[in-house]
Amino acid sequence: MVLNEIEAKAASKLIQKGYLDIPIPSGLDVVAEINRLRKEKNAVILAHYYQTGDIQDIADYVGDSLGLSQQAASTTADLIVFAGVHFMGETAKILNPSKKVVIPDLKAGCSLAESAEPNAFRAFREAHPDHVVITYINCSAEIKAMSDIICTSANAEKIVNSVPLDKPIIFAPDKNLGRYLIKKTGRDMLLWEGACIVHEAFAIDKLLELHKQHPTAKIIAHPESEDHLLKVAHYIGSTTGMINFVKNDSSQEYIVATEAGILHQMLKEAPQKSFIPAPSHEDNTCACSECAFMRLNTMQKLYLCLRYESPEIHVDEAIQRKALLPIQRMLEISKS
Ligand code: SF4
Repeated sequence: MVLNEIEAKAASKLIQKGYLDIPIPSGLDVVAEINRLRKEKNAVILAHYYQTGDIQDIADYVGDSLGLSQQAASTTADLIVFAGVHFMGETAKILNPSKKVVIPDLKAGCSLAESAEPNAFRAFREAHPDHVVITYINCSAEIKAMSDIICTSANAEKIVNSVPLDKPIIFAPDKNLGRYLIKKTGRDMLLWEGACIVHEAFAIDKLLELHKQHPTAKIIAHPESEDHLLKVAHYIGSTTGMINFVKNDSSQEYIVATEAGILHQMLKEAPQKSFIPAPSHEDNTCACSECAFMRLNTMQKLYLCLRYESPEIHVDEAIQRKALLPIQRMLEISKS
């Protein structure tokens, strides 16, 4: 692609900014342009439930980490546009090494993925050579390459139960999900001390106060949340599990303890019900917990990354080959 002066300047600042900072002509119909380009390039747009509503609405598929991995594994598209955070784009690239994978903003990281630093994790692994290593999908490609099986919150219980009882397990990087799984499965796993800043930001005192004001509301929570919050939840599950729960449950009101972007899908699936985001410690603009990494993605950046096929996700070839096996094991176990 031949770039004009503004585009070339934006490309030179890509790493520093995380995205191509190119002004969009005023009046451009971004939605129509995304639709045109997606068709022209045989591109697929995959979006996580934690993206903003406008991005979810334009995606070909919206889902949780398991659903998104399954879609990435089966896509026939030539270009994968991943509206999510960096480790999700990496997972799509690991599954499709010959395809181009782009994300709207390279700086859309994840506190949980960052909590497992590869050298420290290698040492931890080497100190327990007899352990089976199960890692939550929210980790870097390097950590995946050091793992035996990947899991998501939707299949974690099944994955843990698939390991023979005489095999000790390391579970990483999310300690809250790990503790929850120890309770659910009765397996005494060795946990890595990682956590998600969003799910640890929920304020239990504010949540209980909110529940007093809405006594008939059910509290539903993602297992990345802290134990004291999970103890008061009426339902605990993955993002897809939470959406299915509110669709099929008889209550009319819910306090939702996960990233607030999920409310968009909940309102689509159950428009007659009301959803209140669980409050966080910080008094932010929405009085809820939003993932600052997920919010780096915007419609403008989505359009630009589709148009210019940049920023692209790259994964070292040796790491890609090693990381593919534990992801494939997860997809295989999830089928049964
Ligand atoms: S919500 Fe938490 S786990 Fe999900 S991307 Fe943001 S920081 Fe990572």
